[in-house]
Amino acid sequence: MSFKKLGLIEPLLVAIEELGYSEPTVIQRRAIPIVMQKKDIFATAQTGTGKTAAFSLPMIQRFRKNNAQNIKALILSPTRELAVQIEQDIKNYAKYLDIKTLLLVSGKDINTQRKNIRAGVDIIIATPGRMVEMIEQNIDLSHIEIFVLDEADRMLDMGFVKEIRKIHPVLPKNHQTLLFSATFSDKVRKLSKLILNKPDFIETSKKNSTVDTINQVAYLVDRDKKAQLCSYLIGSRNFPQVLVFTKTKQSADFLVEELKKDGLKVGVIHGDKTKANRLKTLTQFRERKIKVLVATDIASRGLDIEKLPYVINYELPSVSEDYVHRVGRTGRAGREGEAISLIDIYEKYDIKDIERVIGQKIPREVVEGFEPDPNIRRKDVDEVKLKSEHKKVEKRRPAKKVYKKTTSTKKRKTTKRDAK
Ligand code: AMP
Repeated sequence: MSFKKLGLIEPLLVAIEELGYSEPTVIQRRAIPIVMQKKDIFATAQTGTGKTAAFSLPMIQRFRKNNAQNIKALILSPTRELAVQIEQDIKNYAKYLDIKTLLLVSGKDINTQRKNIRAGVDIIIATPGRMVEMIEQNIDLSHIEIFVLDEADRMLDMGFVKEIRKIHPVLPKNHQTLLFSATFSDKVRKLSKLILNKPDFIETSKKNSTVDTINQVAYLVDRDKKAQLCSYLIGSRNFPQVLVFTKTKQSADFLVEELKKDGLKVGVIHGDKTKANRLKTLTQFRERKIKVLVATDIASRGLDIEKLPYVINYELPSVSEDYVHRVGRTGRAGREGEAISLIDIYEKYDIKDIERVIGQKIPREVVEGFEPDPNIRRKDVDEVKLKSEHKKVEKRRPAKKVYKKTTSTKKRKTTKRDAK
């Protein structure tokens, strides 16, 4: 399906073509017609699925002739950074149309923001706190037609329920609401009952599921050969741009030195680097001045690098859920990607845990010349054995019986522990 078939007008089609979007993503295919029909939406979609365009393209199309006479749409975002990103996306899409946007986020002078509103605005992108402050200053929201709650689950996790409850009643009764959330938590469901009117449900991603378009593979390799294999893969397959994850700052620094020895242009971001340094490295990576970026999990959160074709897990993350975040950096918005994990004998159990979390098997392979030495044994093998024995015992325990015992209304026998 093409964007044209979705009924978008020429100026939008030209703008998105210039951005390199060749076809709509799943959320765009499903949400755009519903937004056009003026119905409410409850969508589960993570960042990276193209949700911003899904709600803003039809919104721009509807309000292009409003001439900023009154505020027609309000988009709430949990963070300032996301709000900035949304405004930038809308400006890109509305490049050939006359649409006025305004960012209402804290940290900017409120009086200037009020003046900007008076000058005329079509779409407001705001964080909840600043929006409430504006409402207290009697901002006119009586012409709002579309209300968007982006990353609603994150907004609730950040404690913004009070603000949402203050904002919602100020909006006109017959407005359309579009709710986007990465997860389908109880809190979000409760909120949806309060603010949505007979919504259409769109589910484009399950929690912890990895993106379908990513090819995942795990190469078995000895620990002391990992850096060599990493360098070999990047060089022999001529990866144009690759993000490599390590578990610790120390291994990130070690790997950078090893890759540099092989003549690769490498940058590194981790907790010991200043923010300015991290941003500079990221820009160099985006501009492809360096083709390998080595990063730890914390430092890499929130990175949005377009068209990233490869991710390598030099080491598996300590927390299995982080695997989902890491591989989510590739295959963004329907593009294919490849996530390669280099696993040594110590990570055999961690990968199984990851497979349980993502509900998917990751094929194990060996690269010629890097076959693991069969004589290498884990030093902590006894400890591991003990752990797995322990797990087996836990598994054998009849779960139902235990549950019955604790909920039983029968009088419990007094035990030694009770006597203590
Ligand atoms: P979002 O989920 O809205 O944060 O979008 C994630 C990234 O995908 C952004 O960098 C968008 O520019 C990009 N994107 C959105 N829609 C498409 C599309 N149809 N084709 C290619 N890239 C897209």
